[in-house]
Amino acid sequence: MSGVRTTCPYCGVGCGVIATPTGERTAAIKGDADHPANRGKLCSKGTHLGETIGLEGRLLHPMIGAKRASWDEALDLIAARFSAAIAEHGPDSVAFYASGQMLSEDYYVANKLMKGFIGTGNIDTNSRLCMSSAVAAHVRAFGEDVVPCSYDDLDAADLIILVGSNTAWCHPVIWQRIEAARKARGTKLVVIDPRRTETAECADLHLAIAPDTDVALFTGLLAEAQRRWQLDGRYLAECVSVPAGFWKDLPKLDVARICDIAPEDLRAFYDLFVAHPRTVTLFSQGVNQSVRGTDKGNAVINLHLATGRIGKPGAGPFSITGQPNAMGGREVGGLASTLAAHMGFSDAERDRAQRFWRSPTICAGPGLKAVDLFNAMARGKIKAVWIMATNPAVSMPDARMARVALANCPFVVVSDCIAETDTSLYAQVKLPALGWGEKDGTVTNSERRVSRQRPFLAPPGETRADWWAVAEVGRRMGFANGFDFAGPASIFREFAAQTGFENEGSRALDLSDKAGLGDADYDAMAPFQWGGVSPFAERRYPTSDGRARLVPIAFSPRDDGGRDTRLRLNTGRYRDQWHTMTRTGLSPTLSQHRREPLVEIHPDTARSYGLNDGGLARVTTAQGNSIFRVAITSSMRRREVFVPIHWTDKTSGAGRTGLLPGDDRDPISGQPGFKNTPATIAPF
Ligand code: SF4
Repeated sequence: MSGVRTTCPYCGVGCGVIATPTGERTAAIKGDADHPANRGKLCSKGTHLGETIGLEGRLLHPMIGAKRASWDEALDLIAARFSAAIAEHGPDSVAFYASGQMLSEDYYVANKLMKGFIGTGNIDTNSRLCMSSAVAAHVRAFGEDVVPCSYDDLDAADLIILVGSNTAWCHPVIWQRIEAARKARGTKLVVIDPRRTETAECADLHLAIAPDTDVALFTGLLAEAQRRWQLDGRYLAECVSVPAGFWKDLPKLDVARICDIAPEDLRAFYDLFVAHPRTVTLFSQGVNQSVRGTDKGNAVINLHLATGRIGKPGAGPFSITGQPNAMGGREVGGLASTLAAHMGFSDAERDRAQRFWRSPTICAGPGLKAVDLFNAMARGKIKAVWIMATNPAVSMPDARMARVALANCPFVVVSDCIAETDTSLYAQVKLPALGWGEKDGTVTNSERRVSRQRPFLAPPGETRADWWAVAEVGRRMGFANGFDFAGPASIFREFAAQTGFENEGSRALDLSDKAGLGDADYDAMAPFQWGGVSPFAERRYPTSDGRARLVPIAFSPRDDGGRDTRLRLNTGRYRDQWHTMTRTGLSPTLSQHRREPLVEIHPDTARSYGLNDGGLARVTTAQGNSIFRVAITSSMRRREVFVPIHWTDKTSGAGRTGLLPGDDRDPISGQPGFKNTPATIAPF
């Protein structure tokens, strides 16, 4: 077989990959030089994908309890148990928990079943934990969840501000692009991150702000922009709604004190911003994974709208997604807070979706967001749940509570590639899913670029596509007409048609020109970007009056830089691992980078807690505790510690970060604040 063009299954950069099988379960991997997202480049994780496609640990057959079952037995049982729960307790007694690892076609069918046919909004996704605050900020400012930038903007910017993003490790090919731009045109780089990460090491200016003080920093910068005549009066007058009193109510803050940074560094930041109108502010989990994530996002967007640094080359607020298809999930409606195809839950939108689907019912409103969903499960309110391609027993905040929830749910279905995960231990039914190299569908990356994931490996055992399993259950629940898809191409066509259905320009997401693609055209479909390079270049926003909105943001004591004297626990990724290591853990090369989970801590803080470099320490929060090896480093702020997210019960007896963060969450998006948990530490 010659090389197959597909897309990397890891981060939201969405790099094109050419995979050439070299044996039954081996393949040579190289970057796709024709893919606009990466132009042939790959990072270490993408490069070593060929080491991760063996069958070790794979789930190859449906299981009911501990017994192997046929697909018919498993699907009949799921349909019967979901139907029984709905009959006895109503549609909101069942739920679906999806994942940014799923393809858009899988997501689309699951969303259609839950919202249109079962009639509940209870489908949410692990993307809730990843970037739902950016979604909420986009909707508040633009009227729709539209990312206003493209990677091309990174090439054209004069100033790039990275906020809460260790781009060099977490989005390495974007990082390579930034570095190339800096070399070619002297682009300035500011990194805003409490840690001096590998990314921050390379910056022209690093602001190691106190955790969760970003709102103060960007509100202060907006006030400074106003003071120094940097506002774009014409853009504000023509394109932006400004609430009455917005400028008068802008708080006067002692930003350097609140953010705990040197006044001269703050001044240098302000000066760089004033001197470089072509500014991209790229933000990621350090912004989103916060109890103020939505406000942080809007503080960044306010700045760009008010200074007119948006909708033109090299300028804009740019949220980067973590997972390979978080964006595709947002598009089809995989979040409990979106109906479908970027529609909300107004009567008109619900009616439109129901007529498009020709469905027997439609959900009454938004469903439970991830943490609320698991809390409802713990209280016995959810009688049946289907979990697909994710491991909430590890990844949810307060993971111990998530396990209580799973144990309390009478019927748990898990679709996964892996035979035994921390979550599947709680499953009554396990369904064997296709893995990367076997799946067939599409993903959307951080810059709204839709790419094909194409298969190049034969499906092993009895593995089947996730969309097929969902459609089969739909049919067995009596929904004969909505789920007769012939394959991923027919699902994509239907989704594309839905984005254009009675749209008439009211929504930026419109793929309706793809609704008539034949199967062969779908198979050959080249990567394309919906909304174009700059969706707001025409200076119109998808709101009722065509204007974006400045969002007033209240200053809260929580922005006031950690008056709490406990340590602050921050979490994040290692360069060469992905999520809970079910795939990257199979690569001997990737495992070389970091062999064990470390707790990173400043030398002064380590000394005051009696910790030695290389020794062991127990990190304790209100939720739980875990043991880590100590790494003493001046890259940490004092009284803060950092641990990686990857290790689990399955991989290790120690370093189980999932046990530590609490479930405090943003009141608008419902996204948990993983980056700033009160903690203590002691030698072990
Ligand atoms: Fe894959 Fe992301 Fe690396 Fe690209 S940057 S190869 S998408 S992990």
